[in-house]
Amino acid sequence: MENVTRTTCPYCGVGCGVLIEKHPDGSVRVKGDPDHPANSGRLCSKGTALADTIGLEDRLLYPQINGKRASWDEALDSIASRFRQIIAEDGPDAIAFYVSGQILTEDYYAANKLMKGAIGSANIDTNSRLCMASSVAGHKRAFGADTVPGCYEDLELADLIILTGTNLAWCHPVLYQRIVQARKGNPDLKVILIDPRRTMTADIADLHLPISPDGDIALFLGLLAEISKSDCYNGDYVEAYTCGMQDAVSEANALSWDEIQSQTGLSAQELRRFYDLFINSEKTVTVYSQGVNQSRVGSNKVNAIINCHLATGRIGRPGMGPFSVTGQPNAMGGREVGGLANMLACHMDIENEAHRQIVGDFWQSDALPTKPGLKAIDLFQAVADGKIKALWIMSTNPVVSMPDANAVRAAIQSCPLVIVSDVQAHTDTLDLAHIKLPAAAWGEKDGTVTNSERCISRQRAFLPAPGEARADWWHMAEVGRRMGLEAQFDWQNPADIFREYAALSAEHNNGTRDFDIGAWQDRDEEAYASMEPFQWPARAGDVPSHSNQRFFATGGFFTPDRKARAIAVTTDGVSQAQSTSPDHAFILNTGRVRDHWHTMTRTARSARLSAHLSEPYCEIHIDDAKRLEIGDNDLVWIENGLGRVTVRAMLSDRIQSGHLFVPMHWTDHYSANARIDQLVPSVKDPVSGQPASKSAHVRISRARIGSYGFAVLRDKPQALSLPYWTLARCKDGWRLEFALEEAPAVATPESIKAALAIDCTTEPLAFFDLGKHRCRMAWFDGDKLVASAFLASEPLTLSREFVSSQLGGIWSGIAQRAQVIAGVPGKETPDKGKIICACMNVGLHEIADAKSKGCCSVDAIGTATGAGTNCGSCKPEIAEILHDLAAE
Ligand code: SF4
Repeated sequence: MENVTRTTCPYCGVGCGVLIEKHPDGSVRVKGDPDHPANSGRLCSKGTALADTIGLEDRLLYPQINGKRASWDEALDSIASRFRQIIAEDGPDAIAFYVSGQILTEDYYAANKLMKGAIGSANIDTNSRLCMASSVAGHKRAFGADTVPGCYEDLELADLIILTGTNLAWCHPVLYQRIVQARKGNPDLKVILIDPRRTMTADIADLHLPISPDGDIALFLGLLAEISKSDCYNGDYVEAYTCGMQDAVSEANALSWDEIQSQTGLSAQELRRFYDLFINSEKTVTVYSQGVNQSRVGSNKVNAIINCHLATGRIGRPGMGPFSVTGQPNAMGGREVGGLANMLACHMDIENEAHRQIVGDFWQSDALPTKPGLKAIDLFQAVADGKIKALWIMSTNPVVSMPDANAVRAAIQSCPLVIVSDVQAHTDTLDLAHIKLPAAAWGEKDGTVTNSERCISRQRAFLPAPGEARADWWHMAEVGRRMGLEAQFDWQNPADIFREYAALSAEHNNGTRDFDIGAWQDRDEEAYASMEPFQWPARAGDVPSHSNQRFFATGGFFTPDRKARAIAVTTDGVSQAQSTSPDHAFILNTGRVRDHWHTMTRTARSARLSAHLSEPYCEIHIDDAKRLEIGDNDLVWIENGLGRVTVRAMLSDRIQSGHLFVPMHWTDHYSANARIDQLVPSVKDPVSGQPASKSAHVRISRARIGSYGFAVLRDKPQALSLPYWTLARCKDGWRLEFALEEAPAVATPESIKAALAIDCTTEPLAFFDLGKHRCRMAWFDGDKLVASAFLASEPLTLSREFVSSQLGGIWSGIAQRAQVIAGVPGKETPDKGKIICACMNVGLHEIADAKSKGCCSVDAIGTATGAGTNCGSCKPEIAEILHDLAAE
C-alpha cells in the first residue's frame, strides 16, 4: 500500500503491529496491522492514540553542553575524550550506562558493545531491571537460559489460564482481548486471577484469589505438594528431563496447610478450588508479570511457578507453560542483546569463559570484563558514592521510576559527568544532564524489537527526524569511533548492526544456545527493510517465520546435561516482606493505569489518553478511609521516612484493607509532588537485583488544604508554586487540579490569576458564594475563553468534561459567559461525566443513561454509545459500571 508504513507499537511487551497511513496534509492515521501475529489488527487505547503523540512540541532538537547549544562534533568529542580520561585515571568501571527497554535492539547492541567491548566494563544496566529481571533469573536457574518456552497461541489453546501478578486488562490489553475472544470459542476455558487487588482483569476471572503480598511462593509450593500426590505428576517427564524435583517437592511438603493459608491470606476453599482446577486441567498456562517480579523474593516466585509446570510436564506443548509477559516494547530485545549487567550479547553469560572468548574474538576486543557489572540499584548507589565519574542515561527517567527516587536524583546531581539521550527537551532526569543528546523518536527511527513471545518485528520510520535528532545507535557508534575503534563501530545503518548481531548469535552455537538468529547474518538491506515478524530461533539455513515455535516439550534445556533444574524454593524472606511497623501500617502497591505509559513523556501529549485518569490517585479501601476520615476525592498525604507525596483519594472495595495502590506515572512535570517511587525503598531480590516496588510501608492521612481548585487554561502554565497541582491535556488546552493553603474566602481574582500564572489583561467574570465557601471566575480574550477557575473548601463536584469543553467555544454575551462559570451544563447540554472510553469519548453518564434505557450488556452499551467498540480496553470497566448500577 502506498503511503502506509508497517511498524510496531512502542508501548507494552505485547508488541502489536501497527499500520501508519500518511495523508497528503501531513496527518497520520494509525490502525492495527491485521497481518501481525501478535494482534491481528487489534490495538488498545494507547496504540490507537499513537498519532496524538508524535508532534514536535517540547522536543530536544540539538545537542547541548552545560545548557548551551553545541554541535554534534563538540558533544561527541567531549564524551569520547572524557571517557578516555576517566578510563586512564579511574578505570573502566568508573563509567556506567543506564539504558531502556524503549530503545531498539540495534541501539541496545551498540550500547552493550561500547560498554563491554570498548570501555571494558559491564556497568550497563537497563530499566528492564525494574520490570522482569526476576523472570530472567528464574528462567536461567531452571532452563539454563533466559528462554520463554511458549507463545501467545497457547492462550487460545489452553483450558486454564492462571493470571498471577498481572493486570492484563490494563497493562497488556490486546492479550486480554485475545483471552476474551478465546473464551467465546471455548466456553470451558477457565481463568484464575491471583492478585491482592480486584483489578479490571477480574472481569474475565472465574476465580479471583485476593492473595497477600508475596504469598505466591506459599501458594505455588502448596500446589507443587498437591501435584506430587496427584495423577497429574508426570514422573516420566521429571525423570527424563529434570533434576532436583525431589528436593523441590520436599520443601513444598514442609509447608503445612495452615502456613499456606496464613501466608496467602486465602481460605481453604479458595486454595482447594485453585489446586483442583490446576490438577484437572492439562492445558494450563500461567501468565505472570510485575506482581511476581517486583518483589524481594521475585526469583523464587518465578521458580515456584516453573516447578509446577516441570512437575506436570506442562511446558512447551500447545496450550501449556509458564509465561512471563514483559512490560516494555523491547525488554525482550534488551535481554537477548545483553543489556543487563550480568549478561553478554546473544544470551551468553559474562561469567562463562567460553562465552567471553566467543564474544571477545567476534568483537576483536581484549577489554571484555570478566565479572558482572552493577545492577540498577547498586549502579545508582555507586554514583552516589562517587565511584561513577560518568553516567550515560538513554531513553529513561530514573528520577521518577527508580526506587528511592529522591536519593537517585541526588546521586545524579553529584555525578561529575551526566549524559542523557532523549527525545524530550525536559524530563525530570534530562534536566540534570551536563550533555544532552537529541534522540530520534518512535516514528523517526528504524530497527527491531522483540515481544513477549520471542517474535522480532521491525520498527520503521515514517517521519523525518527533526532538527539534529539522531538514532541512539548512531550516538554510541560515533563515540566508539572517536575512542579509536573505527572498525568495530563502522556501521552505516541499523541493518549493518542487525547482521552483525545475527552472526554473533550463530557463532559457535550449533544448538547449544537458545538465542540464534543466524538466518539473518547475510541478508541485505532490502531483506531487512521488508522483514516480516518472525520468532527466534531462526538458525542459519532456516526461513525466518512466525510459526508458534515452543521450547522444552521434550527437554533440550540449556544446562550442561540438557536437563531443567527444579529449584528447591522456600518461603524464606517472605515474612520480612509482609511485616509492617505500626507507624507505617499500609502496604503500598505501585503500578500502571490503562491509558498512561511509564513517565508520561508520550501519553501525556494526548488529550484522550489524559481523560480517563487525569491525576495521580491513591486507591484506598472504603473502611480504611472511613476510619481515617478520608473522603472520596480528598487530597491525601502518603509518606514514610523517604518522602511524602500528595495525591487524590479514590475510595474502593477493589483493594484490601491495609493496602494502597498508587500509579507510578506522574512526574514533577505533570504534578507538584506525586513521584511515588520516592517512597519505595531500595530493597531488591538478592538473585535478580530487581527492586521490590509493590510492598513499601507507608502511612496515609487527609492533606491539610485550605481550598480545592479546578481550572481550565488555554495556555500551559509555567512554574506553578502551589501545595498541590496536576496538569492534564484537554482538547483545546489544559486541565489543572490544584489546591491552595488559604480558604476560598481569602482568594481574589488577582491572587488566583497570579497563582495559576494566567496571562490575560482583561477583567475576569467572577462569582463569590462566601456562604458556601465557593468562588468561580473566568477570563476572556475577545470572545475566547483564556481560563476559568473554580474554588471550594471541599473537593469540587463540577463536571470536568463540561468545563474543559468550554475552552474551544465562542463566548460573546454575558449570558453565555455566565454558563462558563456555572461549571455544570444546562438542560440542553448533556454531561458526559468522567470519560470511560477514550477512543470514542464516551463518559460515565452516557453509559448510565444507556443502561437506564435498557442496555444491560457491554455489547448493548457499545451499540448505543460506541463505548468499547474500537480497541475494547474499556470493556471491563463498562462491565463493572453495569454491575454497580444493577446493584443500586
Ligand atoms: Fe501497544 Fe496496546 Fe498492543 Fe501493548 S497492547 S503493544 S500498548 S497496542
